[in-house]
Amino acid sequence: MPRCQVCGAVAAVHVVQITDGQKTEQHLCTKHGADGLPPITARASWVNWSLLLAGALLMTFAVACCLVTMVESRSRRNPYTPVLTFALILMSAADLCFLSLFIRGGWVWRVVAVLASLPTLFVIEDFLRRA
Ligand SMILES: [Zn+2]
Repeated sequence: MPRCQVCGAVAAVHVVQITDGQKTEQHLCTKHGADGLPPITARASWVNWSLLLAGALLMTFAVACCLVTMVESRSRRNPYTPVLTFALILMSAADLCFLSLFIRGGWVWRVVAVLASLPTLFVIEDFLRRA
């Protein structure tokens, strides 16, 4: 009979969680079952939020690079290939964040990850058209 990891009483709550491919098992009594769960969930969600934030920032910069070159291209002939390439690199980094978010998250995070990576299409289209 598993015992509560906190107080040693007979465990009533058994939690198996897989985070980053690591299987963790928690055995808790009814009293500690309630406060035993939040730490892992909170940590996972903190990482997800960071990934989303990092990805969103990178993506914003990538899109900004494309928009800047659009304005610039009207005024003069300029080599915007380097800027667009830079945008492409930023975008790839952003997509890596969204991809790990997609792999880690539940279905809500997956929907968020897919929506957040939509500007990818814009950046790629822009790159192919003008670079
Ligand atoms: Zn306990």
